Amino acid sequence: MKFIQYRIGDIVQLKKKHPCGSQEWEVLQLGSDLRIKCRGCEHIAMIERPKFIRNTKKILNRDMNEKLDVIARKDDEPE
Ligand SMILES: [Zn+2]
Repeated sequence: MKFIQYRIGDIVQLKKKHPCGSQEWEVLQLGSDLRIKCRGCEHIAMIERPKFIRNTKKILNRDMNEKLDVIARKDDEPE
């Protein structure tokens, strides 16, 4: 079965805009909290994984974006 996992270096478009106007974040570190960097202003933030998954609109560097719902169920599987 195919599924998507977040990877370090992924560029993710979130539903919520950062105050700087950017919706794009780069994944810096994975875990139960993810460390992400705003591509607009380089602000670094920690975000809980479930919240991040809920807020993810697209992973911009993948071509399987229509399968995003699969992430929520499969993302916790070990690599
Ligand atoms: Zn920003």
